Amino acid sequence: MTIAIAQPARTGNPGIVPPWLQGPRPITPNPTTGEPTPPAPQPEVPTAATRDALVAVPLSNGQIVIVDVPAGMFPGGTHEAPTSRRGFGAVEGARGGVNVQREQQRIDDTVASIQAAYTKLGITQREGNDPVKAYFRPDFPNAAYAPEGFSDYDLPADSIGVGIDPRSGHSFAEAPDVVAHELAHRIIDHMTPSKLSMSPLSEDVAVHESLADTFAAMVDTDDWTMGEQLVEPVRIMDHPERLGHPGHVNDLKTILVPGGEHMVQVGTDRRTGEIVEAPDWHIVAGIPNKAAAIIGTELGRAKMGEIYLKAVRENVRPGQEVEGLAVAVLQSAKDLYGAGSHEFQVTKDAWDAVGVLDLLKDQAAAAPRR
Ligand SMILES: [Zn+2]
Repeated sequence: MTIAIAQPARTGNPGIVPPWLQGPRPITPNPTTGEPTPPAPQPEVPTAATRDALVAVPLSNGQIVIVDVPAGMFPGGTHEAPTSRRGFGAVEGARGGVNVQREQQRIDDTVASIQAAYTKLGITQREGNDPVKAYFRPDFPNAAYAPEGFSDYDLPADSIGVGIDPRSGHSFAEAPDVVAHELAHRIIDHMTPSKLSMSPLSEDVAVHESLADTFAAMVDTDDWTMGEQLVEPVRIMDHPERLGHPGHVNDLKTILVPGGEHMVQVGTDRRTGEIVEAPDWHIVAGIPNKAAAIIGTELGRAKMGEIYLKAVRENVRPGQEVEGLAVAVLQSAKDLYGAGSHEFQVTKDAWDAVGVLDLLKDQAAAAPRR
């Protein structure tokens, strides 16, 4: 199958993200004169208020931190459109009453048990399953793996930060699958032959997020819901639609609309001052998540885990987008079980059910023939 290779991350990319989502938003015409009104220039360096909603947050000092709850979670933001019903206030209310020592102990226990479960699946220390420190930070309205640290919340390099869910006031430490997801980000970074991009304009982020959810589902096996302990779950892998997330490629055109709640502001165009938006990749991950959940439901999580671990170790490459993840997983299922196997058929059917197989067929048809 032909894989469409993405453009370099900073130029945005084609593929699963439709063209109308790429590039800056159009300038709004002035209602009285009809003249285009140029927007006020925006600061080029993200401030605390503008860096909240990103999946991978570039800080002013060049650090990147991967955050996991979208939109409007920091106070004083210019684009506070929380996916929550309660907004940021819950953190303010909860952090005074939280027992930091108890939460830290809970996180340490969770990290130890999840790392042991990853070890049981054959994930080695060299693959990013070596001892790692996770810190409870009551003023951090998120959970994150911070490969380069996150000084705002006193998180050292290569650590995990666990804070309070701003939607509910619950500690993210209550959700072992959220902790498993953050540990998985670290593993994926070590396990892929070369690292996926975490640029907020790269669809690689959707691949990273979906794989982190899928890895968490290998060790937290009670359901396909991430963060079911929180008032509102973070993601529902088998039914992303229940949270308004896409479960099929066709859903993207209604879910990812410019200025909509699932778009995040990732910066400003240097020439025009226009705000540049990108999809919230956690949301786009609903599509590959559903494929993984179908595979895991049909074949069991052990086989799903074997297929995905082999795919990440051997076949997942940067710049190949969600379609590339599908190709990697299909290749892995074929290598493990054979082209005529039930397992390979289930894997194909799963990616077909979410519309990605059709994208691959279209790309193969469009490829130049010799
Ligand atoms: Zn994540």
